[in-house]
Amino acid sequence: MFRKKLMAANWKMYKTPAEARTYFRDLLPLVAGHKRDDIAVCVPFVCLNAAVESAAGSAVSIGAQNLHWDAEGAFTGEISAGMLVACECTHVIIGHSERRRYFAETDDIVNRKLKTALAAGLTPIVCVGEVLEEREANLTEDVLRRQCRGAFHSIPVTMAEKLVVAYEPVWAIGTGKTATPQLAAEAHSIIRSEAGKSFAQELASAMRILYGGSVKPDNAHSLMSQPEIDGALVGGASLDPKSFAAIVNY
Ligand code: PEP
Repeated sequence: MFRKKLMAANWKMYKTPAEARTYFRDLLPLVAGHKRDDIAVCVPFVCLNAAVESAAGSAVSIGAQNLHWDAEGAFTGEISAGMLVACECTHVIIGHSERRRYFAETDDIVNRKLKTALAAGLTPIVCVGEVLEEREANLTEDVLRRQCRGAFHSIPVTMAEKLVVAYEPVWAIGTGKTATPQLAAEAHSIIRSEAGKSFAQELASAMRILYGGSVKPDNAHSLMSQPEIDGALVGGASLDPKSFAAIVNY
């Protein structure tokens, strides 16, 4: 099954709107005419307008890094799916390990956010992955299955078409360590098998599973050559437009 790769940037809590404009001025010529893969840049909320304006007419889509599960309400500091759509944001990261770790996001919260994002027509990038202690205790498969089951719970197959999952082993995020292509491929097949159980085999085969964790220009080619790896979610190396473009053009 052919799956078009998605090369996604996660800026985390970096860059102002002015810096976002400069970034796109520098990035867009480097990826102009790139048709092989989809490209998305997930920016802080305050950069959404600047990013959408700067990337207009290009092949680069703009995403957010979080959303709230309710349509509106007394939730100080939160942002709804409708607000993201109104900003012409098309993608959203959900359940990043930093949100699970520092903001107490549970599998249930991830599930609520995922339902909301899909209902709003956004393309969600749901992050799953084990921490080092879990890998060392041979718990990777259990953790991935639990996180996937939790995220996908009671989502009808008809709604899940846009779902993207990112396998991000937490021990590889921002550490310079990457999973070997073989470890990543094993994890991806566990995730795909859970998607097959929760949805349908056809959807699971078509679903894109990205790899994230210290993807850099010099390892992008070997990772992206793996048939099970359908793209990348890139943190640190996406902050520099030249380095993100080199990854996109691996
Ligand atoms: C991430 O934040 O999703 C990530 C993978 O970060 P890094 O590329 O810096 O490891």
